[in-house]
Amino acid sequence: APTLARIDAARDEHSATDFSGQPLICGKVKGLAPRAALNPATGARVGRVTDAAPEDVETALAAARPWSAPVEERARILNRAADLYEENFGPFFALLAREAGKTLPDAVSELREAVDFLRYYAARAKAITAAPAGVFACISPWNFPLAIFSGQIAAALATGNAVLAKPAEQTPLIATLAAGLLLKAGVPASALQLLPGDGATVGARVTSDPRVNGVCFTGSTETALIIRRAMAAHLAPGAPLIAETGGLNAMIVDSTALPEQAVRDVIASSFQSAGQRCSALRCLYVQEDIAPHFTEMLFGAMEELTLGDPWSLSTDVGPVIDAEAEAGIRAHVETARREGRLLRQLSVPRGGHFIAPSVIRVRGIADLGREIFGPVLHLATYRAEDLPKVIADINATGYGLTFGLHTRIDNRVQEVCEALHVGNIYVNRNQIGAVVGSQPFGGEGLSGTGPKAGGPEYLARFTRPEAVPQA
Ligand code: NAD
Repeated sequence: APTLARIDAARDEHSATDFSGQPLICGKVKGLAPRAALNPATGARVGRVTDAAPEDVETALAAARPWSAPVEERARILNRAADLYEENFGPFFALLAREAGKTLPDAVSELREAVDFLRYYAARAKAITAAPAGVFACISPWNFPLAIFSGQIAAALATGNAVLAKPAEQTPLIATLAAGLLLKAGVPASALQLLPGDGATVGARVTSDPRVNGVCFTGSTETALIIRRAMAAHLAPGAPLIAETGGLNAMIVDSTALPEQAVRDVIASSFQSAGQRCSALRCLYVQEDIAPHFTEMLFGAMEELTLGDPWSLSTDVGPVIDAEAEAGIRAHVETARREGRLLRQLSVPRGGHFIAPSVIRVRGIADLGREIFGPVLHLATYRAEDLPKVIADINATGYGLTFGLHTRIDNRVQEVCEALHVGNIYVNRNQIGAVVGSQPFGGEGLSGTGPKAGGPEYLARFTRPEAVPQA
């Protein structure tokens, strides 16, 4: 963990640094007209971004070459990149706060996760004997602009592929810093190229070019379905799509739960990172007989949250990522207010894309309809005899990313876990977070294709299936 002195130094040095983001390609960059990247908490400029022009995508596709160095050398270079990430704590911390709106604890854990991905895949790649798929498009979201971006790239590179990395529109500066360090560590320019730009243009181009042999995607379920169709139309049959997508995540708190602990875990699961985690709790089911007392405790605990600019170290909940996200979440909360279902809402700071943590009453998870990607908790109550129906409703959403259970009845844990089709189940703790290597992360159904990121099976998907000899 970084020391307080390092955090202070980073804040002093980078409070006003003007960063830059641009394509990193093997050839001359043409680029689109530059645009400003803005801080979601303040609206202030963070840097200047040049997105990839269509010609840049073509240059990158033509130059892409699988990384043919022996696996030991690839692993050494990825470990060297991990060292460089750690040395660059200052600018990463500043960008995670200023470009992505992350609080200090979120920024620190994200850098840790990115470093862990680099080292873990470097170590595991030594056991892989199959040939690389070839050229991989890696398409990442803004909500983990360093960890997921780096994890996808590290997996594809560790197995010897060439990577075309398309970071989210909202976080090109972090991506440029990270990709620059991978190149500096020794990844060849033909094996890693960065193409910042729009999903509908740059993203769509790289996922529908037959020179691409596989796609690694993390983002919304809707985008994954678009990519799957594009791949089916243009890529070779059998080209892998590794997709980690959205969730409609539930938690059940029964009447035997320890209330203080459950309240703390509900708050972290629904409001940390302003609810902008794929794993975040969206729908809480509280057993009817404890509901009045439990919700009173929950509303009390919410009052303790500090909302504001993540640049302030006391901030618990920062902004949502941009104006579009803010407008969509706000409309959802306003509908609930009009319908008399808004149970609690904190007050919102001025300026910036802030959404006040809110609690909305629902009958059950089916009322949500879609993933609301912000600090909004939906609350339902249930009677003990209706537990099987609650489980059936959660399964019926078709999503299966995370689920939380607070109970002290042992066989209930067993029963509920067996009945749910969910990738990650958390018992008597918060339901956010994964640990590279020991607690891999991934969903089922509409939440992802598997295998789990940060787990032992992940790398095999980046390789070409062995040819079966004909008799
Ligand atoms: P998004 O789907 O809008 O965008 C993700 C990426 O896809 C971006 O880089 C975007 O530019 C690109 N893209 C958009 N349209 C494209 C197209 N037609 N072709 C190719 N690429 C295209 O998602 P987002 O808003 O950036 O991220 C939030 C979503 O990601 C949430 O749904 C969240 O649950 C999910 N998520 C899932 C996980 C997981 O591990 N399961 C982790 C983080 C985020």
